[in-house]
Amino acid sequence: MESNSLKVYIRTYGCQMNEYDSEIMAGLLENSGYHLTDNPAEAGVILLNTCYVREKVKHKIYSRLGELKKLKEEKPELILGLCGCLVQKEPEEVLRRAPYLDFILGTSNFYQLPEVLEDISGNHNRESQSGDKYARVVRVEEDRAIPEGMPKLRKRRFSAFVSIMRGCNNFCSYCNVPYVRGREVSRPCKDILREIEELAQKGYKEVTLLGQNVNSYGKESREKVDFADLLGFVDQIEGLRRIRFTTSHPKDLSDKLLEKMAELDKVCEHLHLPVQSGSNKILSRMKRGYTREHYQNLVDKLRQAIPEIALTTDIIVGFPGEEEKDFQDTLELVETVGFDGAFTFCYSPLKGTEAAQLEERIPEETSGQRLRRLIELQQKILLRKNEFLVGKEVEIMVEKISKKSSDELQGRTRTNKMVVFEGRKELIGNIISVKIVASGCWALRGEVSSC
Ligand code: SF4
Repeated sequence: MESNSLKVYIRTYGCQMNEYDSEIMAGLLENSGYHLTDNPAEAGVILLNTCYVREKVKHKIYSRLGELKKLKEEKPELILGLCGCLVQKEPEEVLRRAPYLDFILGTSNFYQLPEVLEDISGNHNRESQSGDKYARVVRVEEDRAIPEGMPKLRKRRFSAFVSIMRGCNNFCSYCNVPYVRGREVSRPCKDILREIEELAQKGYKEVTLLGQNVNSYGKESREKVDFADLLGFVDQIEGLRRIRFTTSHPKDLSDKLLEKMAELDKVCEHLHLPVQSGSNKILSRMKRGYTREHYQNLVDKLRQAIPEIALTTDIIVGFPGEEEKDFQDTLELVETVGFDGAFTFCYSPLKGTEAAQLEERIPEETSGQRLRRLIELQQKILLRKNEFLVGKEVEIMVEKISKKSSDELQGRTRTNKMVVFEGRKELIGNIISVKIVASGCWALRGEVSSC
């Protein structure tokens, strides 16, 4: 029977980059003889891969740690660890609030997990023999290079995340990423291509290239390959059918990239382009490095080059100094662009960022009202846009059994819209054609027309 000490439970918070890092840790652990479990109660090792994009997430993580503390009291041999952005940002605070942690690993140290676990297991054994207190492992370094060629235990079988760069040089005034993920470092082009070729050989049909700002890929590297060139190389990989990427920064989206997106068959007609605000005053306070006119101009060029493109975005409301007329500018931009989706948030100050020092804070009630108005508008736009698709044939990649009914499957269009339809399980992983028969805000309903 398998020992529980070799079972690892990993909980990932936050963005796709964190999910990718968790896949690497899972792969490394599997190579070292560990197995993943979905049940924390039966695990010998529990690891939280943390995020620190908002204070709310931080509170959630500390509250989860409080629950795990009880589990550790019942099972003292349990190894409990934390890694990721929260650890990188405030390691001392983490250890002060959770002194029962066995280890913490920063964003540049996560791949050392197997050796750290080996050390700790040795210490635990020594402690049980000698009665001494074992040492905690703390590895939090800055900008340490992440090795290439690490194994990954992918969560999905047909669509994979591939990191192309880490870090960010932009220092938007509200954001923590440059402090917790460091400055931009691009992976060598040949390593990225090798990873994607291997995925294609294993039957993966879709990749999502990841980076905090993919549009600046290669800028700091000695290789003369920019993001548009990289897309061109990825497009040539045999067996691969779809290429997605995220996140794109509006100030770095070049005409060359735009032309490539229009030209390359495998690049999907969807772009996530965070605008954050429609007011130039607020964009300047956010230090985003572009104006609403620049953003609108980009949208016009994108629509001209790729008429069917779906655009999604991120918007923060209630940023310090946002007056009603600034918010109206945001609503107006949202209406004019006609986004296919928006992640919308009320601003909340994040410790250590420039914006946290700004005055003219907006009362929570005002921010909340603005958020509701924005969501209402965005939903109307989305309903209108989705209704337009009824009666049309679209290509989808079938991803999995639908969450709502085991008789139904769900897949995504090239424009990243979810389609639910009746179909056989064997279709999962295939790219098929469906006819859209009904629409809603969050999903479309389809009927299979060809396989
Ligand atoms: S571009 Fe701005 S918001 Fe995005 S990760 Fe970099 S600093 Fe943060």
